Amino acid sequence: TKNRYNLRRRKDQGDGRPAELEKKLEAILPQATPREAVKTTELEFGGRFGVLFWLLFLPVMVLALLILCAQEDASLLNFPLTPPPLHSLWDCQVFGIVLLWLLFQAVLSLLPIGKVVEGMPLKNGKTLKYRINGFYALIFSAISVGAASYNEVDLSYIHGHFLQFYTSALIISILLSVYLFIRSRWAAVDDLAPAGNSGYVFYDFFMGRELNPRIKDFDIKFFCEMRPGLIGWVVINFAMLLAEMKHKNLDTPSPAMLLVNGFQLLWVADGLWHEEKLLTMMDIVHDGFGFMLAFGDLAWVPFTFTCQAYYLASHPSDLSAFWIVAIMIMNVVGYYIFRKANSQKFAFRRNPSDPALSHLKTIPTATGKSLIVSGLWGFVRHPNYLGDLIMALAWSLSCGFNHVIPYFYLIYLILLLVHRNARDEHQCRKKYGLAWGEYCKTVRYRIFPGIY
Ligand code: NDP
Repeated sequence: TKNRYNLRRRKDQGDGRPAELEKKLEAILPQATPREAVKTTELEFGGRFGVLFWLLFLPVMVLALLILCAQEDASLLNFPLTPPPLHSLWDCQVFGIVLLWLLFQAVLSLLPIGKVVEGMPLKNGKTLKYRINGFYALIFSAISVGAASYNEVDLSYIHGHFLQFYTSALIISILLSVYLFIRSRWAAVDDLAPAGNSGYVFYDFFMGRELNPRIKDFDIKFFCEMRPGLIGWVVINFAMLLAEMKHKNLDTPSPAMLLVNGFQLLWVADGLWHEEKLLTMMDIVHDGFGFMLAFGDLAWVPFTFTCQAYYLASHPSDLSAFWIVAIMIMNVVGYYIFRKANSQKFAFRRNPSDPALSHLKTIPTATGKSLIVSGLWGFVRHPNYLGDLIMALAWSLSCGFNHVIPYFYLIYLILLLVHRNARDEHQCRKKYGLAWGEYCKTVRYRIFPGIY
């Protein structure tokens, strides 16, 4: 953390006040001038009415996607118009399994293995500590799933009860969001997220009021972001692979299923290997923990990102050897751009004078931080998004061209990253002013060179 950049005035820079006096003032000031939380005035996601739409639309949309994915004719024209029967949506045993999975992951996250690191400085100058053991959690989970499979636990059960798994995760994410909203009433002003304090109940419920809700040292947002949903994603993919073999009577999974499982396992393992980098992302630094992230982490990620494997479990995708090689190359290229761009920026922010980065051209900003303007960050303004999208294209192409449904993830990611790019650039413009303008002039395109 020595080299981590901190925009806030550091205590040791001081202002000439002796430390003792500083301590006394700290003890007195909060009582003398009780502070009010800053109101959120710039509303995102369509504002107070827009979020109502998202609150209702997103859960229903995932349900429709899953029903379509499992239909024999997965064509969009065959869109399910009637709601599924209740028994296909609810099962107590499935709900219990989802709760057990969350508990298992929570226990893994509390294991005293892996390093403890400090997050970015908070508004009050303090930093929170996080235990980084996500990659170990993935390994333990893989061993447990392997052992269960070996002992003839039929994991294809997940495929047969997929809608019930989804509704269980949905219910848990709603209950969690309600809990988070209620407990935020007692949160200190400094613990509130800048974007979730509009005073409109549904808006704040959606955006999340508290920035880092914790139960003792257990950080609920950090846990949900990377563990149950992300590791759940690869476990579900594996269950779909087994279901494909079982239902189609195959001795080995299809090449398309292997590609999708392999590519997505790489993405998840990479994310957990670099878990520490999450601490600098807007989800942790800026966004509160409310319905948007709770639903996103616990229901959206494990049930829409698995859409390709779910689709392949019941739909064939016959890939020629040429296509298999072409898709693999595409994934490698996407991964290289994604990883290199993210690691380079992270290393630069940690230590701008790192000799390994001295070849990069940069422009200074008034905040003291610089912006990289050469290499990948000089190619487009968000090369990491570009790499992610190339990988998403490779995953979708693995499913062939019969239906658009397996392209759902790609379409979603384009919309998400274009929107995320706009949110991020808005923040950067505020932070860096003229320097950001200069960066935009030097590097003209945001994500897609020559297009956008
Ligand atoms: P970034 O990692 O791109 O972070 C953006 C920040 O980087 C800016 O706010 C700025 O922060 C800094 N920055 C921007 N340009 C430069 C530059 N030229 N030089 C140095 N610093 C710069 O954003 P995300 O957190 O959105 O994404 C991280 C990764 O996660 C991406 O690869 C993305 O694809 C992936 N992702 C995937 C999702 C999925 O669902 N698959 C969802 C969300 C993200 P500052 O200057 O303050 O450091």
